[in-house]
Amino acid sequence: MKILVVNCGSSSVKYQFIDMNGEKVLCKGLAERIGIEGGRLVHRVNNDKHVIERNMKDHEEALKLVLDVLVDPEIGVIKDLSEIDAVGHRVVHGAERFASSVLIDEEVMKALEENVHLAPLHNPPNILGIKAIQKLLPKVPNVGVFDTAFHQSMPKKAYLYALPYELYEKYRIRRYGFHGTSHRYVSKRAAEILGRDYYDFKVITCHLGNGASIAAVRHGKSIDTSMGFTPLEGLVMGTRCGDIDPAIVIYLQQNLGMSVEKVYDLLNKKSGMLGLTNNLSSDMRDIEDAAQSGNEIAQLALDIYVYRIAKYIGAYAAAMNGVDAIVFTAGVGENSPYVREKVCEYLGFLGVKIDKQLNDVKGVERIISTPDSKVAVLIVPTNEELVIARDTKYIVENKVKELKLF
Ligand code: ADP
Repeated sequence: MKILVVNCGSSSVKYQFIDMNGEKVLCKGLAERIGIEGGRLVHRVNNDKHVIERNMKDHEEALKLVLDVLVDPEIGVIKDLSEIDAVGHRVVHGAERFASSVLIDEEVMKALEENVHLAPLHNPPNILGIKAIQKLLPKVPNVGVFDTAFHQSMPKKAYLYALPYELYEKYRIRRYGFHGTSHRYVSKRAAEILGRDYYDFKVITCHLGNGASIAAVRHGKSIDTSMGFTPLEGLVMGTRCGDIDPAIVIYLQQNLGMSVEKVYDLLNKKSGMLGLTNNLSSDMRDIEDAAQSGNEIAQLALDIYVYRIAKYIGAYAAAMNGVDAIVFTAGVGENSPYVREKVCEYLGFLGVKIDKQLNDVKGVERIISTPDSKVAVLIVPTNEELVIARDTKYIVENKVKELKLF
């Protein structure tokens, strides 16, 4: 079975085409600058990179180009589109309606449309992507895999904010959590690597990419996570502020006269590591380099970044009454020995000990704690596309409407 995995952003489409026989990635790529000048598609087959400069007016045109490239006689990987057996879509927000991966039908599409108010930036491009594939490949089944679904197992005490209860009842204002597909994959993988029973295992997963979140996964279920109603809450991120006093928002509007849009922009795009470093960079590599050359503000930003992660790990160890393993994943988690080491320095009280030599590695799946560490520490490169492809395969092969995650 060959599965196309599609991840539609506001102006981009990421894709992977996977042969599930051996789970081999046949090709992958990114169409970017959709709807604006300078559109291009970067298509990769093994180690070959092909760049196609082409303006794409919308997601349908972008996906049409992706499909054309898949069957291209020179750079394609299949002869005919009929070789695509199913399409798996990453969908950001499934709200309370979706605690599983699902076969997309009319009723699911309706529910997705109804959720748009919860994720006004993310869900519309996801919906456009699904509609485009339905049009371009009318016979092919589509499956939706949600970023929020894995966290639907959180108990009420973890997902409710201390706001008037009717805001939850009427408007569903609550913690949803994101990056669920990644937390699910790396938490399970950690249990496998350690030879532990996933359903009798307490693990804290740190997904540290541009966006960053952390989750407490007990016995195969997410019981808490740092992102909330939106992906803005929690850790310090590339450009997002993470946890702040909500009164700051009111202060910015009342005392500095900032509009709603300006505040939104400030908190989401101008804060985090970018804001803390006075616009030096949102990229951890630049910030680590600057700190190493003595840039004090970069060092301070790193200290704040690491401190916030350590605080969450402490909190989640308490939430689970113990922790067996801590996992680092995504761009920073997989590639920054510095961040991993500094986070673990805070965790001596839990009996965490890492081996500096084992930690001195990038993008490799391995245990980095010492044999006498009370808590195992691991690097597990995430693979959200593979999870989406596996869920899609399960649903299509077994002819079921959904795959329950917990
Ligand atoms: P996203 O998918 O959220 O856009 P990624 O998971 O790709 O993000 O992570 C991007 C982040 O990973 C960037 O901040 C980048 O600096 C960081 N990163 C990548 N490689 C390294 C590295 N070698 N050292 C430190 N950080 C790295």
